Amino acid sequence: MNKNMSMTGRAELTPLRQLTARIGSDPLLTHASTGNSSMKLEGVLWIKESGKWMANAIREDILIPLDLAEVKERVKQKVDPAEQYNGASIETAMHAMLPHRVVLHVHCVNTIAWAIRKDAPVQLAYQLGGLRWQWISYVPSGLPLAREIERVLSVRPDTDVLILGNHGLVVGGDDCAAVEDLLFQVQQRLTICPRKAGPTDRAALAAIADGSSWDLPDDDEVHALATDAISRGVLSGGLLYPCQSIFSSSTSPRLFRSVPCPDPRDQWESRFCTRPFLIIEGFGVLVRRTITPAQRAMMSGLARVIQRISSSAPIRYLTDEEVENSFMIASRYRELSNPNPYGCAR
Ligand SMILES: [Zn+2]
Repeated sequence: MNKNMSMTGRAELTPLRQLTARIGSDPLLTHASTGNSSMKLEGVLWIKESGKWMANAIREDILIPLDLAEVKERVKQKVDPAEQYNGASIETAMHAMLPHRVVLHVHCVNTIAWAIRKDAPVQLAYQLGGLRWQWISYVPSGLPLAREIERVLSVRPDTDVLILGNHGLVVGGDDCAAVEDLLFQVQQRLTICPRKAGPTDRAALAAIADGSSWDLPDDDEVHALATDAISRGVLSGGLLYPCQSIFSSSTSPRLFRSVPCPDPRDQWESRFCTRPFLIIEGFGVLVRRTITPAQRAMMSGLARVIQRISSSAPIRYLTDEEVENSFMIASRYRELSNPNPYGCAR
């Protein structure tokens, strides 16, 4: 469909673009190209383009128009619209199947900290009581998630909040103001105070990084992955949500396990040459100088999620099959802009 098809439509999209940019700039809600927003206008589904950052919604034209009836027909025929339309978000089917005029999907860190728990449905029933919400156990993005949403909506069509297991949050409403208000309510109810991590040994990290291809991350909160013992324990158990794997270009949790402080005389640089970051136990985190902005954002999001998971939380990690599957799907939709920027054999 022609991007310039409807100037009227484009003016009406301004509130969505503003909302999308606000949400995209909040590290508690989205990271890198994750999350998406859409608006249905006169039979057209305007949806965030795959791989674009929500934060850029004002300065960049990140919404693409799709024929809504056609997209829904594809879903009905069990064909994923993301495979049919160039640049269509992997979550296009989900946005099309939701009846709301405006739909927002975010990787809200507070929501994820609940949604990775085995007892999430029970915990959330208490937190979200009174809202029209439903729980969806983990299913891969794309057609499987859209079909599952269709199923839960057939039971309770008035649902306007969906909590996606090991994934995130979806909120729908008539207009941008209603959606933002609902998002705020959900966020407030699900807020968890992050644990205070131990101190970062910046001097030691700087000494290790000196003259190497490693650097300290811009975001100080990332160090909690290394300086907080509970966080290290949570990370060592497995992968919590697909973006962890997609943006780190790894299907193994090994990358997220902490390592002892490397000895400068050791061959540690070559040993870790395939890694975008190093979680150094008790010291802090180092990132490769070539780390991509998307990977930096993923690390920021991960640290914020992990600091909100308690040591007693019964965690439901992704299975190996789920990780492999989500990685394969993401590779198909340009979510992986640069799978291995380090030039090392894997
Ligand atoms: Zn998502």
